[in-house]
Amino acid sequence: MDPFGRTIDYLRISVTDRCNERCLYCMPEGYKGWESKPDHLTVDEILRVVRVAAGMGFRKFRLTGGEPLVRRDVIEIVRSMAAIPGVERIGLSTNGTRLATLAQPLRAAGLSTVNLSLDALDAAIYRRVTGGDLNSVLAGIRAAVAAGFDRVKLNCVLMRGVNEPEIWPLVLFAAEHGLPLRFIELMPVTSADVLTEANFFPVTEAMRLLTERDELEAQPSHYLGWGPAKYYRLQRTGALVGFIGALTTPHFCETCNKLRLTADGKIRPCLGDHGELDLRETLRAAPSDEAVREVLLAALRRKPLEHGFGKQYQPCRPMTAIGG
Ligand code: SAM
Repeated sequence: MDPFGRTIDYLRISVTDRCNERCLYCMPEGYKGWESKPDHLTVDEILRVVRVAAGMGFRKFRLTGGEPLVRRDVIEIVRSMAAIPGVERIGLSTNGTRLATLAQPLRAAGLSTVNLSLDALDAAIYRRVTGGDLNSVLAGIRAAVAAGFDRVKLNCVLMRGVNEPEIWPLVLFAAEHGLPLRFIELMPVTSADVLTEANFFPVTEAMRLLTERDELEAQPSHYLGWGPAKYYRLQRTGALVGFIGALTTPHFCETCNKLRLTADGKIRPCLGDHGELDLRETLRAAPSDEAVREVLLAALRRKPLEHGFGKQYQPCRPMTAIGG
């Protein structure tokens, strides 16, 4: 438990800060702040952290990035993690561009769930937001569904004047394929100029837009796990839609259950707080797992009550470097 009584049993592990897309909201244009490869945690170091965390009661793990599927040893990481006692669920956050070939081997290695970024269904808008190719993502979604993961969710970050016309088509797509879709409010985690009043699109507005076309029935809290989304079932289309309003939802952090591990081995107790603890140094210097456990416990104690996004928060490391 953290000092505020929240049970922290979820570790999000960024396996790389590299990405094969260039999302407007995630990586500053012309970004060159890559961590050097030797600073990235090795497979053995990641597994050691997972082993220690699982021993402390962490049960859910997620691989993220950057784009986790650009890391060549990702299947080995999943397979070895799945064999660690106490690891109950391994999730993956991905842009989906490499899933067409990797979904099946990831499933066979023990991956449980997949969260896929899908910010638009119009190929030109998709390219504008991500710099990537929509068709490869659609092929990835098909492969993920065919691979039989316990759950495949879609994530869309809302940007006014950019992918706003895509909201309803995305809902219809989610309904057609029976996939939960989450709309995410833009957070100030890139560079200061990304989150502006002009392009911020609150989830409350997305909800209002959807109520003009369908009837939203609230689902019980903590539906689909303990994530931060509030879910609604759309009565006419049947879509299951979640809203992650990090900036506009009061008490957003009340049920937060996670710590983050960055690709360069920092433990970050909160996405919206600059505090980080250096776990890599400990991993490389200390032979005892007790020292690793101490850093994880210290991170837990340092977890703030709330993120600081509403308090003139200035991003210093972009999302791609922290891990989404
Ligand atoms: N590349 C993978 C992906 O696309 O899911 C994993 C990393 S990405 C950083 C993880 C999540 O963070 C994605 O759902 C992405 O949309 C979200 N994200 C990135 N920057 C964001 C921002 N500024 N505001 C809100 N969500 C953001």
